[in-house]
Amino acid sequence: MTGAYEEIFNYINTLDIIDTHEHLHCFEVDRDKNTDVLKEYLWHYFNKDLISAGLSISDHDKIYAMGHSVTEKWKIIEPYWNVSKYTGYGRSLQICARDLYGVENIEASTIEILNERFMESLRPGHFKKVLKDKSKILTSLLNVNTLNHDYNINNNEWSIYCDKDFFKPVYWINIFVYPTLWSHIESVEQQSGVRVTSFSRWLEATELMINKALELGAVALKNPLAYVRTLKYERVPASLAESEFLEIYKSKHFPLWQGRPANPGKNFQDFMFHYILEMANKKGLVFQIHTGIQEGNGNMLSNSNPELLSNLFIEYPDITFDIFHMGYPYQNELTVLAKNFPNVFIDMCWSHIVSPNASVEALLEWIDTVPLNKISAFGGDYLFVDGVYGHQYLARQNVAKSLSIAIEQKIFGLDKAMEVAEMLFYSNPLKIFRLKSSK
Ligand SMILES: [Zn+2]
Repeated sequence: MTGAYEEIFNYINTLDIIDTHEHLHCFEVDRDKNTDVLKEYLWHYFNKDLISAGLSISDHDKIYAMGHSVTEKWKIIEPYWNVSKYTGYGRSLQICARDLYGVENIEASTIEILNERFMESLRPGHFKKVLKDKSKILTSLLNVNTLNHDYNINNNEWSIYCDKDFFKPVYWINIFVYPTLWSHIESVEQQSGVRVTSFSRWLEATELMINKALELGAVALKNPLAYVRTLKYERVPASLAESEFLEIYKSKHFPLWQGRPANPGKNFQDFMFHYILEMANKKGLVFQIHTGIQEGNGNMLSNSNPELLSNLFIEYPDITFDIFHMGYPYQNELTVLAKNFPNVFIDMCWSHIVSPNASVEALLEWIDTVPLNKISAFGGDYLFVDGVYGHQYLARQNVAKSLSIAIEQKIFGLDKAMEVAEMLFYSNPLKIFRLKSSK
């Protein structure tokens, strides 16, 4: 890398940043204490690389069994780890081990000491150390899928359960669009205080819950449904949605051990998402939408192409659409969408660990094609806190690489590159999510 890279990377490392997306525990105290470093680090992401490399599901499941020592677990996974460790997921963990625990390489000879040091991190204060001191994150937007369900509306004691020192809540809307069991309907009943005896009562509960989440400080809504269905949401008359919804009552009498399915079809789902989008459009809200790669070992990738959302971008011009994961591997489609639609924004959450080099190349292409105010550079998207550190390190590195190439190409100079870095990591997400400056 060039001299410009070092300079810009050093500058980026001084920046306080905004993290657009996390799945961490709402409070540090909720962390799993019955754990070890492999159980925590292989909770998601890199374990899928190990399975992709050939680790059997039965051996994989031994990672989570507390009867085995980390050395025994390491022996099982080592061949798969060694062929996977250069992926973005693997590199992120390596960076965590190095910078958080002083372990240069995760390998047979270091796994015990890494585990010892990791176990010490279960004491209070680790969230602050990782998120604030090491990662310089001012705030993280955290996925919250339920309002505090210990209370119902009649108690007037609702809250969004998350630590406001670290997080701003983002409210998931999936349960309103894609309930699959009666237990989901009942949890909405319990949380909203609305007894769901008809389709119109379902709409009432949906509206009430979303309004409550916003009132309690949710900064955006989130649709993660590209994991289970296509992103193509058609316009559907209410009558069709209602007749699909009414089907759910056919299973209400099933015994509990039957699971009691309550799974209305695509017409209902399409209608419900449009219903929620109309609410969001009226209020001019921000909607985060999962697009691109689905976490896990196998899914229908084509369901997640952001191009499928075009009708929504056209029909709801007053919503700010924050499109996740740079649409990877559909980042080219997202490039054109963000270029053409004033209400479409690119969010690089998860991207830098999915593919560091694709992130560098995409950002370079966006400098060529997309206004600079439309990109947010970082969202950790981790379930465990150490991973956020590894991810933000890679993100700072990748953005420095793209910007140093732009400097080499004489698109702009070092001063402008610094200004752009500050926009991508701080001012853009601050404006997109209408956060108050916390510097
Ligand atoms: Zn996520």
